[in-house]
Amino acid sequence: MEQFREEVSGWLRDNFPTSLKGMKFGFEGEAEAALADDLDTWRARLAEQGWGAPTWPIEYGGAGLSHPQAKVITQEMHQIGAFNHIPMIAGMGVTMVGPTLLEYGTDDQKDRHLPGIASGELRWCLGLSEPNAGSDLASLSTRAEDEGDAYILNGQKVWTSGADISQWCGALVRTDSSVAKRDGISFVMLPMDQAGVETRPIQLIAGASPFCETYFNDARAEKADLLGDLNDGWSVVKRLLQHERQSQTTARSSGGGKKAGLQDLAKEYVGVDSTGRLADTDLRTRLADHLMDAQAHALTIGRITAEARGKVEVSAAASILKNSATKVAQTKAELTLEFMGSQGLGWEGTDFTEGELGNVRDWLSGKAISIYGGSFEVQNNIISKNILGLPETTQKG
Ligand SMILES: Cc1cc2nc3c(=O)[nH]c(=O)nc-3n(C[C@H](O)[C@H](O)[C@H](O)COP(=O)(O)OP(=O)(O)OC[C@H]3O[C@@H](n4cnc5c(N)ncnc54)[C@H](O)[C@@H]3O)c2cc1C
Repeated sequence: MEQFREEVSGWLRDNFPTSLKGMKFGFEGEAEAALADDLDTWRARLAEQGWGAPTWPIEYGGAGLSHPQAKVITQEMHQIGAFNHIPMIAGMGVTMVGPTLLEYGTDDQKDRHLPGIASGELRWCLGLSEPNAGSDLASLSTRAEDEGDAYILNGQKVWTSGADISQWCGALVRTDSSVAKRDGISFVMLPMDQAGVETRPIQLIAGASPFCETYFNDARAEKADLLGDLNDGWSVVKRLLQHERQSQTTARSSGGGKKAGLQDLAKEYVGVDSTGRLADTDLRTRLADHLMDAQAHALTIGRITAEARGKVEVSAAASILKNSATKVAQTKAELTLEFMGSQGLGWEGTDFTEGELGNVRDWLSGKAISIYGGSFEVQNNIISKNILGLPETTQKG
């Protein structure tokens, strides 16, 4: 593995445009525009290596690497302030659609869809939630009528992340209304650039518009793009959502190397006592609790990965990790806001540092973590039923 690590770090040294070093996505739209050429060069170089989705087979645009090797790439990127641009621009493609296609897709579907995702040239969104079907997703009412070679879709989706900038959508639709609700659902894939699809962006409290209302008015999904069997979309989406949770288990957590940063930040804002410890005892206790939770979360991910011998099997355990990642991330944002006091509530202007302005946005947008990918409470239901073996008391049907 050491030789592989050296190869990776050498390649990164030669290929990562230094102009992009340390670049943070999300709040720097102008910087992104100014560096658009460098970003695209970086995307193309990653795609050529197959590192956009390094564990996918080479024939579908990946690099055929093991999970431990993919981890080495991520670690070496972090070392030099680099980042994997492709999963960010592929939307739901690399983390969710791709892994599900690899499992459920036909050879033709894999050939047509995976390379565009792995190269970051095609962005995907997911049309699952509806105004009356969120946690109780099986209540969805978007209809798909059989019309020869295609299904014709009518209905409304909501909270569709990136729908206005995606080329493809994976949608959950009702294909049989005469059976129990989970037995009449199918998963179809359709191009967004067609007259029957309309998107309306929704603005969030943190300023961005990451998601949309999506309307299907006689939208067309080819039958060749039905993923899995007709009326078996529930199995497909359960797997897809496990992949989503899995991808969210490390997101925004403050485990590992960031601990010292948070402690230093607290001391900087709150001050220290005569022994050099954080002056506020109550805050000190809560900070220590948080750091232990963050460390326990990071170690649990490490243990689960090691037990799976690096294969990173996706399972119901993803619900546990998603909830603990949520708690760690939200507590970190709350504590940081508390250290900063009124400085942590600035929205714009020269009275606030970049870190302060970034934190208030992280704090606000972090509220979404306990909602998307299945809410905190719904994960607890899954844990109680699928891991603890307790009887199901909700979401029957
Ligand atoms: C930032 C963001 C991005 C998103 N992106 C997408 C996307 O790309 N595509 C997509 O399809 N959807 C997306 N969603 C939607 C997301 O999946 C839903 O918001 C989520 O499933 C919850 O559904 P809901 O909003 O309808 O809330 P509801 O289901 O109405 O839940 C409301 C509250 O009731 C609680 N609750 C509901 N049922 C139960 C139960 N059985 N037991 C205990 N408590 C319960 C919930 O925990 C929650 O607190 C996104 C959401 C967010 C916030």
